[in-house]
Amino acid sequence: MTHSPVSGRLAGRVWNFSAGPSALPDAVIEQARDELPNWRDSGMSVMEMSHRSTGFIDIASRAESDFRRLLNIGDDYAVLFLQGGATLQFAMAPLNLLSGKRNADYFRTGMWSEKAVTEAERLCQVNLAVDTKATGYRDLPDPDHWQLNADAAFVHYTSNETIHGVQFHNTPDVGAVPLVADMSSDILSRPVDIRRFGLIYAGAQKNMGPAGLTVVVVRRDLLGKLAPGVPSMLDYAVHDKAGSMVNTPPTLAWYLAGLVFDWVLQQGGVEEMDRRNRMKADLLYSAIDASSFYANPVAPADRSLMNIPFTIAKPELESAFLERADAEGLVNLAGHRAVGGMRASIYNAMPLEGVQMLVDFMKEFERKH
Ligand SMILES: *Cc1c(COP(=O)(O)O)cnc(C)c1O
Repeated sequence: MTHSPVSGRLAGRVWNFSAGPSALPDAVIEQARDELPNWRDSGMSVMEMSHRSTGFIDIASRAESDFRRLLNIGDDYAVLFLQGGATLQFAMAPLNLLSGKRNADYFRTGMWSEKAVTEAERLCQVNLAVDTKATGYRDLPDPDHWQLNADAAFVHYTSNETIHGVQFHNTPDVGAVPLVADMSSDILSRPVDIRRFGLIYAGAQKNMGPAGLTVVVVRRDLLGKLAPGVPSMLDYAVHDKAGSMVNTPPTLAWYLAGLVFDWVLQQGGVEEMDRRNRMKADLLYSAIDASSFYANPVAPADRSLMNIPFTIAKPELESAFLERADAEGLVNLAGHRAVGGMRASIYNAMPLEGVQMLVDFMKEFERKH
């Protein structure tokens, strides 16, 4: 790698556009490095601490209260720090929320909601209230085209489709039926009104921390209705009661997510993240739209601010693009294997400067070809 160092950045760090696990803020990496051998004079790293120690209990509760502060979450909601990824939530959500009903509404708007639907179909009757699969997941229909079932146990949607680059810019209004959101790739990227939701879940490795941690926010009045015969480890109520310490939690990931929450607070919270994320996405989409060399397939109103897929007019140049970008320290720009092309994931930790470097590189590459 022959990229030049960038001012204010940790030495040797690249601009990492990975969709997940993805870039963490340099400041967080630096703090984790400094604290690694000896966390606050404990004489040990966080990895080596008992999860029942006062040191770790402190780390855990601070992370939870910072997360609650960031999204303005009251005591009527549980915040859980779990394992199993967003993928386990595809099953846990129906197992906990069906509460005797047999059917649920799902919005199928991209690869991730498609996976959630496939898992839910093992457990209940799925009604596709929204389905854009036939047209290749390029846009979102207006609410008057949704086919909601008033009798559904819940409505599930994926707020940001990480692979197809489609994002809901408003929280769907689904009436009194509990709304469930997979926010894996846009949680903490913007403000949300928590009270609109019954359940939110997100794998940490996109916008909150390293892999191995899943954060769940669930309205407490929905708890305690687990389907019969289901293991207690899949019961939100059990985790809530145990403070997410039914068994050994992913201590290091929880600690690192806590550092990220603190960093977001210091930057100005989710409102500031939203402002920056809009600027970053605007810069990249404008560059793509201004050129006939690059293209993004998503309807402008439904484009993701987090994951921006794009293609090159001459697909045979893709590998050259990726190689040249890599040499410039712009890495992990290959699109998901299911859709091809390129994809830039520009979560909270990606500064405007990194996106500017990418846009400059893209213009230069276009000029040369
Ligand atoms: C990455 C991702 C998932 C899968 O997350 P895991 O933690 O790997 O299970 C699910 N949904 C969305 C929207 C994602 O971006």
